[in-house]
Amino acid sequence: MDGFGPDHLPYGVFSVAGGPRRVGVRVDDGADSWVLDLFAATGRPELERPSLNAFMALGPEAWRETRQLAAELAGSLRHAVPLADATLHLPVEVADYVDFYASEHHATNVGRIFRPDGEALLPNWKHLPVGYHGRAGTVVESGTPVVRPTGQRRGPEAPVFGPSTRLDIEAELGFVVGVGSELGSRVPYDAFAEHVFGVVGLNDWSARDIQAWEYVPLGPFLGKSFATSISHWVTPMPALDAAWVDLPGQHPEPLPYLGPGATQGLDIDVEVVVNGEVVSRPPYRTMYWSPAQMLAHLTVNGASLRTGDLFASGTISGAEPDQRGSLLELGWGAEDAFLDDGDEVVLRYNAPGTLGGRITLGEVAGTIAPARA
Ligand code: MN
Repeated sequence: MDGFGPDHLPYGVFSVAGGPRRVGVRVDDGADSWVLDLFAATGRPELERPSLNAFMALGPEAWRETRQLAAELAGSLRHAVPLADATLHLPVEVADYVDFYASEHHATNVGRIFRPDGEALLPNWKHLPVGYHGRAGTVVESGTPVVRPTGQRRGPEAPVFGPSTRLDIEAELGFVVGVGSELGSRVPYDAFAEHVFGVVGLNDWSARDIQAWEYVPLGPFLGKSFATSISHWVTPMPALDAAWVDLPGQHPEPLPYLGPGATQGLDIDVEVVVNGEVVSRPPYRTMYWSPAQMLAHLTVNGASLRTGDLFASGTISGAEPDQRGSLLELGWGAEDAFLDDGDEVVLRYNAPGTLGGRITLGEVAGTIAPARA
């Protein structure tokens, strides 16, 4: 069982045989997979909850203590439940959800596809991490069927109404906020570790035909808000201590509040699997904007953070054609590149661990269900 050893210890929410939901940590011992029952081990009330939120709100000192305890339990498998006996649930009660657009390769590809005669990147792109507010209430757990959305798209004369014919994925990483901030204050780029609890895999399902018709001038709306899937497991930031890497480089230099030269990206490899076949391997280390810069930008106007806030990277695309994180880019806009009913998409992630091997982040799966009348 690769990637869930003692250097990983991701958090999730589980139940057994219809019992109450509670916080657990996954560990594999080489033969079997287990969930460590943290409430049973500690009696801490914040761990006997149907989401990670109460625990995350305790802050970094409690996170460190609990991770230490989980490492001890993992060694002895005390309070361990077989993963096969556990039902996993959405790990976080998502407060606000923001999606960025932080890959230069993705933004350039999309610009070329949608605006072949214009500049690929718009003038603001290298000065700020572009983003939009999404719909927190439709963030769903891995495995939730995705019902094909219905809506308006551009037609030859008048808009056409019906099920989307260009249903797509966006392979992304999501960052989960544990500790909030005060309204009116900023979270500086060097305070990332005080606020961000961990990372989830994230698929920002996108209906390109609905999106293309509606997005000017206010940005994504119904083409995105029908579903966003996240992994069951939240990888805590310390498990990624060995994965930090320098950004590819930022020119022109961003404004001081974005900490030019002072923040890093993450060396996380992504796999996009459609109907069992790997169709792409996007590298997160190629992203232009860092997670800390996204957080600093998200709060520079004084917008407060809340426990459970989720902010995502935007589609992860590398420089090569087989590193693109959306079907729009992989098919370069071709009409038959998109998802059919019954198609299954799985996003997988792995990163360097702190013991010299690699850790496997939680995967994100979803199958397309037919549109409803
Ligand atoms: Mn997205």
